[in-house]
Amino acid sequence: MPHIYSCPHCHAVLNPNIRVVLVAEFGGQRGLVLMSSKLGDYELICDKGFCSQVKPGDTVDFHCPVCNESLTSKTMDHFTELEMVDPRKTHQHPATIRFSRICNERATFVYDGDSVNEFGEAARLYHDKMMIEGDWGW
Ligand SMILES: [Zn+2]
Repeated sequence: MPHIYSCPHCHAVLNPNIRVVLVAEFGGQRGLVLMSSKLGDYELICDKGFCSQVKPGDTVDFHCPVCNESLTSKTMDHFTELEMVDPRKTHQHPATIRFSRICNERATFVYDGDSVNEFGEAARLYHDKMMIEGDWGW
């Protein structure tokens, strides 16, 4: 069963099935992006018309498709921030997940209240900064 991802603003579930649905914005254009709900899996499905505009290294703004709020982390604006619940532990405080906003940069951090887990080969580039400035707000 996949993790349940939700918007930190309106708390709407963002993966009604296996994919996480986000609105991506770049260069004044918007498109829907479907991300994998599996941590460390960076395969994504997107609107080709939109995605052909975005090149590796570009910074993308992600928005909630339900409330339209920006999902950029207020603590570290290099990252997009979502809430995540393990369906086996729904009684727990949702974990905070942050992933890089840079196209093709695979860096994801998950904080569950106890420890930070990292995914993606670029995570090590941000490891120290995340530990020092992360301020997970718990
Ligand atoms: Zn929302």
